[in-house]
Amino acid sequence: MKIETLFMDSHIKPCEETDYIIEKTGLKPEYVKDSKVVYDYVNASDDPVSKGKQTLYITENHGAVIKQCPGTSHYTCCDYTILHTGTFCTMDCSYCILQAYFHPPVLQYFTGQEKIFSALDGLFAQNKTFRVGTGEFTDSLIWEKISNLPAKLVKKFAEQQSSKFRMPVQSGSMINPSVLELKTKTVNIDSLKDIDHNRKTVIAWSLNTPSIIKSEEKNTASLGARLKAAKKCEQWGYRLAFHFDPLVIYDGCESDYKEVIRSIFADASSGGFGILPESIVWISLGTFRFMPPLKQIIEKRFSHSKIAYGEFITGLDNKMRYFKPLRIALYQEIVSSIRQYAPDLLVYFCMEDREVWEKSLGFFPEKEGELGQMLDKSVLKRCC
Ligand code: SF4
Repeated sequence: MKIETLFMDSHIKPCEETDYIIEKTGLKPEYVKDSKVVYDYVNASDDPVSKGKQTLYITENHGAVIKQCPGTSHYTCCDYTILHTGTFCTMDCSYCILQAYFHPPVLQYFTGQEKIFSALDGLFAQNKTFRVGTGEFTDSLIWEKISNLPAKLVKKFAEQQSSKFRMPVQSGSMINPSVLELKTKTVNIDSLKDIDHNRKTVIAWSLNTPSIIKSEEKNTASLGARLKAAKKCEQWGYRLAFHFDPLVIYDGCESDYKEVIRSIFADASSGGFGILPESIVWISLGTFRFMPPLKQIIEKRFSHSKIAYGEFITGLDNKMRYFKPLRIALYQEIVSSIRQYAPDLLVYFCMEDREVWEKSLGFFPEKEGELGQMLDKSVLKRCC
């Protein structure tokens, strides 16, 4: 959706960062002393969720810039680190949890790049691998159209070894590098083209079948456009990742998901994009799950959608999930399809239990932190 209204916190001093956004949006900001003005404006709409997607609020993040992903104690967690640079999204997926997460949901851009960079210096100084993502509360690359932050983050991660806070390493190779993961459903990659990224940024696409993209992922890029952008990034030397999340169960979904996998790996002469397995750092899989209140929002905002009507049970984290044998059956099909093209590629589950891991992948990362260590190893293998 197009941003139509721009608010700016009047406590923020205009600077290069804010001028850039204002220029790119082409909108005249309304300066507000209190965020309540913005929230009241959004809430006055018949559809505050849509209004929130068209209303950008340039403000400050008064909380932590860096957070550990909350995960849950019941399902295996990947120990992700969240870089909190903004909230919400201009695209409109029926299943998006952010619709129910923020009250009201508003597109917020947090200014203060110095604060972000100094928080990152604090991470780099620990000489430990952090997998850092900006795509937890927003889409990482919707911002690329209006902000120079994504490109600056790529440069920041590329230069981590020379950070004055980082302990020197002898061999010249980087020990325990951290990586930035930019996760998106857009094709907004132009400003990332000529950056010396030093392979410390992973550009990740959430993928789904053309039929789910059409029915449930409004305003997102098509599957072909996402894979074309991924191929370009591969040619620019970036490492890639793919997230099949949410996998949606419907008649014929298995063959549709296999076709998506074929499109990733098969070469151009067979109609695929020929992405090399060694360019991919990881692929994650997660079937559709949702907190019960999201169902009402989907019914109200996406009356055509059938996504919330399936064989669901309540999981240990109170989220609705597909009945376990159905999840396992779909995972097995997808894993075996990926293995045909990329036997050694790291595939993992987001928020699944032991039985699902063992029956679908043949092992379970039992020890605390084990999944995180597997992902870190893949960073060492692919990003150094
Ligand atoms: S792209 Fe992601 S953040 Fe944006 S609406 Fe879809 S699920 Fe939500």
